[in-house]
Amino acid sequence: MSEPTWLPPATDAEVTDSLTQAFVDRFSSLPDGVWAAPGRVNLIGEHTDYNAGFALPLALPHRTYAAARWRDDGILRLASLQQERTWEGPVAQVRHGNPRGWSAYVAGVARALADRVGASEVGLDVLVDGRVPLGSGLSSSAALSCSVGVALRDLVPGLRTMPVEELVAACVRAENEVAGAATGGMDQTVSLRAVDEHLLLLDARDFSVVPVAWTLPEHEVLVIDTRAHHSLADGQYEQRRRTCEAAADALGLRSLRELSAELLGEPRVRTALGAVPDGLRRVRHVVTENERVLGLVAALREQDTDRVGRLMTASHTSLRDDYEVSCAELDVAVGAALAAGAPGARMTGGGFGGSAIALVRRDEVEDVARAVHRAFAEADLTAPAFLTAYPSRPAGRVT
Ligand code: ADP
Ligand code: MG
Repeated sequence: MSEPTWLPPATDAEVTDSLTQAFVDRFSSLPDGVWAAPGRVNLIGEHTDYNAGFALPLALPHRTYAAARWRDDGILRLASLQQERTWEGPVAQVRHGNPRGWSAYVAGVARALADRVGASEVGLDVLVDGRVPLGSGLSSSAALSCSVGVALRDLVPGLRTMPVEELVAACVRAENEVAGAATGGMDQTVSLRAVDEHLLLLDARDFSVVPVAWTLPEHEVLVIDTRAHHSLADGQYEQRRRTCEAAADALGLRSLRELSAELLGEPRVRTALGAVPDGLRRVRHVVTENERVLGLVAALREQDTDRVGRLMTASHTSLRDDYEVSCAELDVAVGAALAAGAPGARMTGGGFGGSAIALVRRDEVEDVARAVHRAFAEADLTAPAFLTAYPSRPAGRVT
């Protein structure tokens, strides 16, 4: 039986020297500095962001690093150690479709910030080294855009006093408008506003955040990257969004955030939702998920490990049965982690692949990972990869 694959976080020191040298080799000068931004994992609160609801993400110790040098000619030269293709061009010409691919996330940030200070101010040479697993639902994309966002904020005189909320908005615009990826704003908020050793209770109504201390020092979050990416994901995501909008419309509400579980039980509400295909089940997930987020925050304050775990597992059940966004790999990961003694487990992120998480005692992490690894082999699934997540610090300058 093979052993589980682990993806440990890199330390800043491990990355910065080699990245700086690689920057010099590529651009023939030293960078002005190295910046880094974390990926994230959402402990609970899934598919709530576009319903103006709650989520409870934490920043990963895994970060994306950007060595950068400011240029005074409004030109971008972009390279990544994870990608073959480079891109070079003026910030002023960046828009949806130019550039395409990974560099859109970086060029998009410069483009959004150019609206504040002018395109000639945000030229940059950048070399990226991403240590957040790519495309696993752990937000390597926001780690990428935010690493460059903090670099520009620190390097461009007109941006130094910019409030962090505006930097978040610029990084969201980069993904939405230039990369063309629908993203709600959670990822960029956590990457830029995380608080060490805390989760962030995020209210998508206004994107305000409340740090919530991680009060379970004997437990950590085991992340199981299923390495599955089922292609129906995009269409399904849009469909869920539309169902939620139609349901809110049918009830005359601005968003499903306004609906409580109590109201959901009322006959007139059930009748109205009955007219929306799948309305009742989808709405039940959103309403109960919001309540689970707040319940989990309370359970953390009371250091009630079992209740934290139960709420995570209830979230998974709701996403699997009512929202129907799980898949075989996620269900196997959750089932195996629970069977191995984890107090709670759930899929995390949009679904149809990506990652699952389990709440696990520190001294049992290896055993649980081994059990999940075995369950994947028995189910004939591609072996997953594992990492542990402890709430870590926000994006910023490294050297
Ligand atoms: P996730 O954000 O969950 O990892 P996404 O599909 O949103 O998944 O983002 C992944 C994409 O982000 C990659 O396909 C690539 O375009 C870009 N990306 C992320 N990290 C890097 C990196 N280190 N170098 C270049 N591109 C990256
Ligand atoms: Mg992403």
